[in-house]
Amino acid sequence: METNIVKAYGTEAANKPLHGMNIKRRELLPHDIEMEVLYCGICHSDLHQIKNEFGGATFPFVPGHEIVGKVTRVGTHVKKFKTGDLAGVGCIVDSCGKCESCKDDLEQFCDEGVTFSFNSADKHLGGVTYGGFSETYVCNENYVLHVPDSLDLASAAPLLCAGITVYSPLKHWQAGSGKMVGILGIGGLGHVAIKMAKAMGAHVVVFTTSASKVEDAKRLGADEAILSTDAEQMKKYTRKMHLILDTVSAKHDVNTYLNLLKHDGSVVLVGLPPEPLEIGAFSVVSGRHSFSGSNIGGIAETQEMLDFYAKHNITADIELINVQQVNEAFNRLQKGDVKYRFVIDMASLKK
Ligand code: NAP
Ligand code: ZN
Repeated sequence: METNIVKAYGTEAANKPLHGMNIKRRELLPHDIEMEVLYCGICHSDLHQIKNEFGGATFPFVPGHEIVGKVTRVGTHVKKFKTGDLAGVGCIVDSCGKCESCKDDLEQFCDEGVTFSFNSADKHLGGVTYGGFSETYVCNENYVLHVPDSLDLASAAPLLCAGITVYSPLKHWQAGSGKMVGILGIGGLGHVAIKMAKAMGAHVVVFTTSASKVEDAKRLGADEAILSTDAEQMKKYTRKMHLILDTVSAKHDVNTYLNLLKHDGSVVLVGLPPEPLEIGAFSVVSGRHSFSGSNIGGIAETQEMLDFYAKHNITADIELINVQQVNEAFNRLQKGDVKYRFVIDMASLKK
């Protein structure tokens, strides 16, 4: 298959610094678009994976799945996009299209295994897919999103993963007027979830381990925010919460949060702590509580989410960096030192 060589930033091995490298992108198939990557967010999932915390990372590894850019070329049969259009690519770049999940617009649960934008088997070129820390991205038009031009492009990039990952469960579990919704972990996902749950009409309570985020959470729109390490304050929320969205990236005690639920309430995990979490029987049997999870969202829902965020003018709070600062950014993300999402200005790759 014909390919083009493009510049990218990636790493050769787990826990080794990222550096400039050349990668191959396929020449356009009839339904492919090529986009120039303008901005790419840095998600904690990129960090988990370049450290190979889940196992299964294939090197060289090019991260990046919060990709926004401009369409530069389209394949002969492309209908959805034309050259010059704004475009976004998130986690999903292919799926079988035939299974029950795909037919239900839940490609993220595809029976045959979804193809992710990075570190998934590349059906066309062999090897693995390379993510958005690169000059260009090539993708079937059906997995590319229209990015509303009213949104600031750099701040919109994190919506392609963080945005949909919190939108989908908040909608599914009906966060809205009259609901007490807790957000646990105020990082890239959590800070967008505050804005999102508020826009849906919920009463939002933030649980954070960081003192500096208590007041900031209110600036972001939370109705209440407390330090989760303060047992006295935590007690006040016992049996008060309908839903708690858990975005924490490391091992933590979920029983504490299950015990804050009203009867029939749910703690929904979207964070991906590499180690298993323990659940005490009484945390779920008392109050018929649910502990569940959610994974990104399908393509149609991702478009719906972008349009919803544009309507409510919601984007991420970002720190824009050059690609040459990416290793420092990963170190800071590891320490929780970012308010609240790093986004790479990919023009810096040309330097
Ligand atoms: P992030 O920006 O690093 O935020 C994670 C937050 O979790 C931190 O800001 C911190 O919030 C809290 N936290 C971290 N370590 C903690 C600990 N040991 N105990 C308690 N709280 C802790 O990460 P992110 O990009 O938002 O991603 C969050 C998680 O979601 C990651 O595991 C990521 O891989 C996963 N993820 C899942 C999906 C999905 O589809 N399911 C999609 C994207 C990302 P406070 O300072 O407020 O306590
Ligand atoms: Zn992500």
